[in-house]
Amino acid sequence: MQNIAIFGATGSIGDSTLDVIGKHAERFSVYALSAHSRIQKLLALCLVHHPKVVIVPDEIAEKKFRQLWPANIAMPEIRVGSKGLCETARDPEVDAVVAAIVGTAGLPSAFAAAQAGKRILLANKEALVAAGSLFMETVKKNNAILLPLDSEHNAIFQCLPGGKNNSQVKRLVLTASGGPFRNIDPSRLSAVTPEQACKHPNWSMGRKISIDSATMLNKGLEVIEAKWMFDVDASKIDVLVHPESTIHSMVEYIDGSLLAQLGNPDMRIPISYALGYPDRIESNTENFDLSRLLQLNFELPDYKRFPCLKLAFDALQSSQSDCVVLNASNEIAVDYFLKNRIKFTDIAVTIEKMLDGFAGTVKGSLGHIDDVFELDALTRSHTSELLNNTH
Ligand code: NAD
Ligand code: MG
Repeated sequence: MQNIAIFGATGSIGDSTLDVIGKHAERFSVYALSAHSRIQKLLALCLVHHPKVVIVPDEIAEKKFRQLWPANIAMPEIRVGSKGLCETARDPEVDAVVAAIVGTAGLPSAFAAAQAGKRILLANKEALVAAGSLFMETVKKNNAILLPLDSEHNAIFQCLPGGKNNSQVKRLVLTASGGPFRNIDPSRLSAVTPEQACKHPNWSMGRKISIDSATMLNKGLEVIEAKWMFDVDASKIDVLVHPESTIHSMVEYIDGSLLAQLGNPDMRIPISYALGYPDRIESNTENFDLSRLLQLNFELPDYKRFPCLKLAFDALQSSQSDCVVLNASNEIAVDYFLKNRIKFTDIAVTIEKMLDGFAGTVKGSLGHIDDVFELDALTRSHTSELLNNTH
């Protein structure tokens, strides 16, 4: 029996994870659940999954949770804030941490899980984008086990023996759907609404990653994630647009063989693989019907239409600080776009301005995790300032 802590339990990955876990009560026990704004949903999840611990963002949320909790049932232990998340990541009772908080807000707890040598099921790609080699060194030093939930990385993991890159690998091919704006006339992009941008053709996801998919920065973050996770040079990672989202990614070997993982676009598949690893377990997904699949299409990404993808490749080539700035400025810009305060096309413009103007002034290396947190916070405040002054 594995005790699982799910950070970001009320989100899209949280839902899919709990769906899989619910089917395998003999294997997994829900030890902890965290929520940020949806306290009522957290309560409902607790009544189904009976965690020993919940983590809420602050005292106000704690009070709300206590008020809502039914009097006749024993209440879980309540922990608060990032401190509560990190304490839970280190909790000796926890075997595996599902890191499914969105954004760099998920980094401290994912990092604490790495320090504590846990089994980490990583959805929170932003943690790896921001902390890169520091994160991977910490995983290695503490014998933590890092398992990807991101479907592309999960596919690559499945195509590499033992999940490990080796000298026989020629390149990794990350597939991308191209999002909702793959074919729209580029002149119309400045007028698209958050609702249009959130309507992903194949996947149902949280709002931030949906916008990232529409700008294709998501694929850029995934290239950076793949570089660190599989220790591969950026020059050996390609992106291929594949609108059907059936092939989730591929590994090409030096003998010309390409190994791919195919399946429904359903996050319960990579989640089951990581939960069960090295075993395979039922995922609750629908049967995959190859006969309904008439064709698979591929095209090269269009950097003019998707400048964010190019910015991510450039940041990766440039430095870890640039990756932090790329990621943090994007989070702020996406938030402004979701609040209708800037245009869709301003997201790329904002990131580029921050990379050109601000990242260049950052001196010194990111030798410690606190340096990453500091640069992340600084970028956020500079980006907000820039957007408040210009919009
Ligand atoms: P979501 O918005 O549906 O859920 C986010 C979760 O994080 C919620 O539980 C929320 O309470 C919590 N959260 C938000 N802000 C927080 C904060 N400041 N502190 C603590 N908790 C906070 O997002 P999602 O789609 O589930 O994505 C979660 C992560 O997984 C992201 O990093 C995303 O890139 C990654 N991911 C998601 C998918 C997907 O299919 N949804 C696929 C691959 C990777
Ligand atoms: Mg992905």
